Amino acid sequence: MENVYNVIIVGSGPAGFTAAIYASRANLKPLLFEGLAKGGQPGGQLMLTTDVENYPGFPKGILGPELMRLFRDQAARFGTELIQQDVSAVDFSKRPFKINAEGKDYFARSVIISTGASANWLNIPSEKALQGYGVSACATCDGFFFKGKEVAVVGGGDSAVEEATFLTKFATKVTIIHRRDALRASKIMQDRAHSNKKIDFIWDSTVTDIKDPAQKKVTGIVLKNLKTNQVSEKKVDGVFMAIGHTPNSEIFKGQLELDVKGYVKVHDGTLTNVPGVFACGDAQDYKYRQAVTAAGTGCMAALDAERFLESGHA
Ligand code: NAP
Repeated sequence: MENVYNVIIVGSGPAGFTAAIYASRANLKPLLFEGLAKGGQPGGQLMLTTDVENYPGFPKGILGPELMRLFRDQAARFGTELIQQDVSAVDFSKRPFKINAEGKDYFARSVIISTGASANWLNIPSEKALQGYGVSACATCDGFFFKGKEVAVVGGGDSAVEEATFLTKFATKVTIIHRRDALRASKIMQDRAHSNKKIDFIWDSTVTDIKDPAQKKVTGIVLKNLKTNQVSEKKVDGVFMAIGHTPNSEIFKGQLELDVKGYVKVHDGTLTNVPGVFACGDAQDYKYRQAVTAAGTGCMAALDAERFLESGHA
């Protein structure tokens, strides 16, 4: 059999690179698939943000792509082998585990999954061009930049209400735009939103366009009322999408236990239902979804993998 790696890490966000830093420093000589993901570039969701101001250790903030470059450099410095390819299939049914990328098979005694999740977007014109320039899918990351401004939040679930409530700390007004006439968020969250004077609602409506990519900033949104078909424009300085996330777990279907939404199920830290396969970061976490929590679970996964390898079960 060809070379069998101690650890193969799949995914290159904060979770994957942190796992790689720990695994390589433990002399496990990991291989990490960076993936090209949907945006055609590795590095995870932070590649889509501008300033990151809540990652500890950077008091002046840091650009998302720059932070990921530093993560990558640190993993490479300790000898992580990096391959910029998407994994297309895995076989966890027998050992060593098999991973296929671009037609080639790779084998490993343990695998760390850190494929992350992708925010759902509306897929409307100009949304992509304005990502990082007033269009965001993370209020915790970007809310601070909207001090004294007006913003819109799209969605009607717990995330939409939570993000809207959080944004009222900075914005003068937050408008929740929902495609139906009732929120899906839990009752307690709804009550919170309804009693917050800074939050108002536009019901039965979708955002059909965001202005103005030519100015490289958000100046307003185009709305369509789904009941009347009436089109209108609203002036806002920012738009937050809160229409759910999709974990990048398609390739693990049938190989690992996933929950109904596709998140990898873990127990006792980062253990999946297959001994020797570990999951960290947003691929297994719909709740916290922060770079620092992803990095934390990446560290846990590397330590769990190391213990597994030492236990002689691999
Ligand atoms: P979610 O519950 O799936 O809600 C997504 C919302 O976006 C729904 O209101 C949906 O509309 C809307 N939506 C979806 N696609 C859309 C589109 N293309 N255009 C317009 N609107 C669209 O997702 P979530 O709010 O991110 O929550 C995910 C999970 O995390 C849930 O289980 C939630 O309870 C949990 N969560 C909990 C907390 C908390 O407890 N503090 C905070 C955040 C999240 P419809 O209503 O019409 O389907």
